[in-house]
Amino acid sequence: MIALKILEEKNRILLRMKHEVADCIKCKELCLTRNQTVFGKGNPNAKILLLGEAAGREEDQTGIPFVGRAGQLLDNILKSCGWSLDDVYICNVIKCRPPQNRLPSPEEIENCSGFLRKQIEVVNPKFIVCLGSVASQALVGLPVGKAREKWHVYENYDVICSYHPAYLLRNPAAKELVWKDLQPLIEVVRSKNVLVQGRNTEEHSGSSK
Ligand code: SF4
Repeated sequence: MIALKILEEKNRILLRMKHEVADCIKCKELCLTRNQTVFGKGNPNAKILLLGEAAGREEDQTGIPFVGRAGQLLDNILKSCGWSLDDVYICNVIKCRPPQNRLPSPEEIENCSGFLRKQIEVVNPKFIVCLGSVASQALVGLPVGKAREKWHVYENYDVICSYHPAYLLRNPAAKELVWKDLQPLIEVVRSKNVLVQGRNTEEHSGSSK
């Protein structure tokens, strides 16, 4: 019962934030060029949060993160790990699409950082997976090439970093590296039954982690 209330409260706060984001005009260029903002998807009780870069063309059209080819590849990666969308929460560092899919500017990342911080705090995962350099820079201050292959800590969350699915579409050989990067997380998730805690809301009622 308590767990259900926690889930309802998380959904309520995230929905309110989603509306706030939709009205946001902090980045002068992005708020003029976007079709819509892209907030997040997945299970607000998930113990694993996947963090991407920014909305792309399909995301800007649908309002949903990680759709299109990169999204399909991410779905396949999740399946290979033995996870589903119910086991994760997915969002981006910035909630709008940069025109021509350019990299978000430092100012745009800073503008959106309050939304991201709060979003992570509400979901309160145990693990965060940074996908690509924009995410790894934002959370652990390193480009993905230097952040891979070790655990990091952001606030009180354990973080690993690997390549973005869009990069894997351009460099399929790097899929093997992503698989290697995810192994420590797959192992700890399995050994500590982490997914059961995230899926089963009744078990979410004790310690929140
Ligand atoms: S990227 Fe973030 S801060 Fe910038 S306009 Fe979009 S929602 Fe607002």
